Amino acid sequence: MPHPLPLTRDAGLAALAAFLDGPGADYAAARNTDRGRGETPTTSALSPYLRRRLVTEEEVARAALHAYGDEGAEKFVSEVFWRTYFKGHLETHPAAWTGYREGRDAARARLDAEPGLRRIHDRAIAGETGIDGFDAWARQLVEEGWLHNHTRMWFASIWIFTLRLPWELGAAFFLAHLLDGDPASNTLSWRWVAGLHTRGKHYLARRDNIRRYTSKGYDPNGLDEDADSLDEATPPREAPLARADAPPAGEVALLLHLDDLNPESLDLGPARVTRVGGLVVHAEEAVARVREADTAAMADALSRAGAHFRCPAAPVSEGWEEGLPVVTAWAPVGPSADALPAGCLRLRRDWDERAWPRANRGYSRLRSAIPTMLHG
Ligand SMILES: Cc1cc2nc3c(=O)[nH]c(=O)nc-3n(C[C@H](O)[C@H](O)[C@H](O)COP(=O)(O)OP(=O)(O)OC[C@H]3O[C@@H](n4cnc5c(N)ncnc54)[C@H](O)[C@@H]3O)c2cc1C
Repeated sequence: MPHPLPLTRDAGLAALAAFLDGPGADYAAARNTDRGRGETPTTSALSPYLRRRLVTEEEVARAALHAYGDEGAEKFVSEVFWRTYFKGHLETHPAAWTGYREGRDAARARLDAEPGLRRIHDRAIAGETGIDGFDAWARQLVEEGWLHNHTRMWFASIWIFTLRLPWELGAAFFLAHLLDGDPASNTLSWRWVAGLHTRGKHYLARRDNIRRYTSKGYDPNGLDEDADSLDEATPPREAPLARADAPPAGEVALLLHLDDLNPESLDLGPARVTRVGGLVVHAEEAVARVREADTAAMADALSRAGAHFRCPAAPVSEGWEEGLPVVTAWAPVGPSADALPAGCLRLRRDWDERAWPRANRGYSRLRSAIPTMLHG
């Protein structure tokens, strides 16, 4: 199990240090291989911590640069920026998220109306399709809450192009069980595999590739390796990036949410925090283990925030802010953003402020800005 619970900042920092001391040095060469359950992953497995910003993209990228230098860290840092990219992209294409939710609900209605589709779906999520590899991955996802990136790509591709299941149901299955389940990375990665993110360019899982990059040597028969990409009548329209607020001078109440559990590093300008409240809003799909991980991660953040700001810190309750202005770290598109109280001031980290305007199209624009983001 790569993620001992509870998820805390200390556990995230320990995982980062262990990765940089161990598999990180071989990341660029080894990262495509999934060693399978029970083995040390070839990748960092930091995503459940990064997703909640128990550790931030910036500190992880800088730690890798410090350990390996610009060249040695390049591949890893570039992968970290994919998270930042997807967040900025969903921020400028929120219709991709609403479209996912509508598609998911429509697909669930189809399951009720079409027994054949329901049978294939239920076998897929139970790991009973008979497709080598796929069945083990479905069980691993449910039992451990994490899958290697390459495996997520194969899984999503087989789901869409071989099993011919609606992609939104696969994305919902991931969001239910992944400890790193994330509206931006998950929705946009499923759309990317389907050929909807980069229109017409889809990802087809190939038997040879799976055989080569799985240490357990999975060898699936009968994959559709020639399928056409999916298409959609109305791709999500680009929306302007909303402006962030400035922190006010004087006493404030700081609201924490699951998209940013790193209050110590938030630039609060002249504001002085005298109350901290924690707002836990789970993904609708999330199963009990993911909800427990969310709640424990929030408890960790509240206890750190209370010590850092030397003030009361507790889950939000009626009147918790005691009439003070409420400030919060920016919540990107997703359940936390939907639940923020009206009138609260949303502060954006410099990292997001600089990166997100470059995330409205393909990844290459942000990738080319990485040296400036880190050194400029
Ligand atoms: C179909 C599909 C669904 C996915 N759903 C999610 C999701 O819900 N939540 C999520 O966090 N990631 C998701 N990913 C992205 C990626 O698979 C995971 O972030 C990655 O596997 C996490 O493992 P790691 O921490 O060992 O990554 P590493 O390879 O060690 O990379 C370090 C960090 O970089 C970021 N990163 C790396 N690869 C990607 C990527 N392709 N896209 C976005 N960020 C990346 C992550 O924050 C990761 O923790 C999905 C990918 C696919 C193909």
